[in-house]
Amino acid sequence: MDIAYKLLPPEKRRSLPPNLALDFGRLFTDHMFYMEYENGVGWQNACIKPYEPICLDPAAVVFHYSQTIFEGLKAYLGVDGRIRLFRPDKNAERFARSARRMCMPEVPKEVFLEAVKSLVKVEKQWVPSERGAALYIRPLLMGVEAFLGVKPSSKYIFFIILSPVGAYYKEGFSPIRIYVTDKYVRAVPGGVGDVKTGGNYAASLMASEEAKKLGYTQVLWLDAIHRHYIEEVGTMNIFFYFEDELVTPALSGSILPGITRESVLQMVRDWGVKAVERRISIQEVIEGIKTGRLKECFGTGTAAVISPVGWLAYQGKEYTINNGNTGPLARKLFEELTGIQYGDRPDPYGWVQFL
Ligand SMILES: *Cc1c(COP(=O)(O)O)cnc(C)c1O
Repeated sequence: MDIAYKLLPPEKRRSLPPNLALDFGRLFTDHMFYMEYENGVGWQNACIKPYEPICLDPAAVVFHYSQTIFEGLKAYLGVDGRIRLFRPDKNAERFARSARRMCMPEVPKEVFLEAVKSLVKVEKQWVPSERGAALYIRPLLMGVEAFLGVKPSSKYIFFIILSPVGAYYKEGFSPIRIYVTDKYVRAVPGGVGDVKTGGNYAASLMASEEAKKLGYTQVLWLDAIHRHYIEEVGTMNIFFYFEDELVTPALSGSILPGITRESVLQMVRDWGVKAVERRISIQEVIEGIKTGRLKECFGTGTAAVISPVGWLAYQGKEYTINNGNTGPLARKLFEELTGIQYGDRPDPYGWVQFL
């Protein structure tokens, strides 16, 4: 790919603020990757240019019908001073799959990876060095043709922006409180729950606002048909560690196939833990809590890596898991995964890519 570099002069470049706030996603680096697509022409005009607003026609497809997808991954500054990406090929593949589902042109995997790496190279001084902090990478594709009919856009913009983020766990690795909703659903079979598309998140806002008012950090979604089987949490997949097995809901089509989820399954199986992907009902989880069979519960996702769940509210009752403490499996997974990401543990799976 031919990338045109239109970089700011060095004296106009800002630098990483010293005390990176936990305030995720408000600070952006100096440059962005930008590329356009047009039917009959293909991808063109790839460039890395100063971070700036995008000017679109008010009739652009994305505004009206949400033909848009995104990804989320991070660049980590390793203990050896080298910048690492964690399984970016998986993000590239998921992005292509999301594009197909939304009738958008795929960004070829190699192009996606080259765009990410080239941009992070330009902005390498923005990768924070503090353990737990990282440079969050947000690729996005949207339909921009000016046309009010409902059909796939004939024009697209693909861009990547970068946002330095502070450590998720500043005051220790502490469990969160989640609210199980049986009033709202996130996704239906045959829908787009397994696609990182903007509309899914707009549709989830009402439930999470209501949960927040009640003092819970995130919503745990149940399946749309029975409102009985566990799906996932906010922007995380979920795991339940029972006495003899680690269980996570099977990818039913309405659950986002998380890269952290897949990595956790592979690691624990190699540690000799029985890990299964199957249907799991909210009743089974509550029974497990009551009988003590459920030892741990945690969410998995790029943002927090592993997020222990200490409390679960369902139908007016609150249940405590593992006395509200982080369990040993969650802790071990967190240490192992972040160890690979920051380069102080071996990477037996070849998950890390350097710039
Ligand atoms: C991104 C996301 C996840 C987690 O995926 P990772 O690849 O592990 O970061 C889980 N659920 C939803 C709804 C998501 O958007």
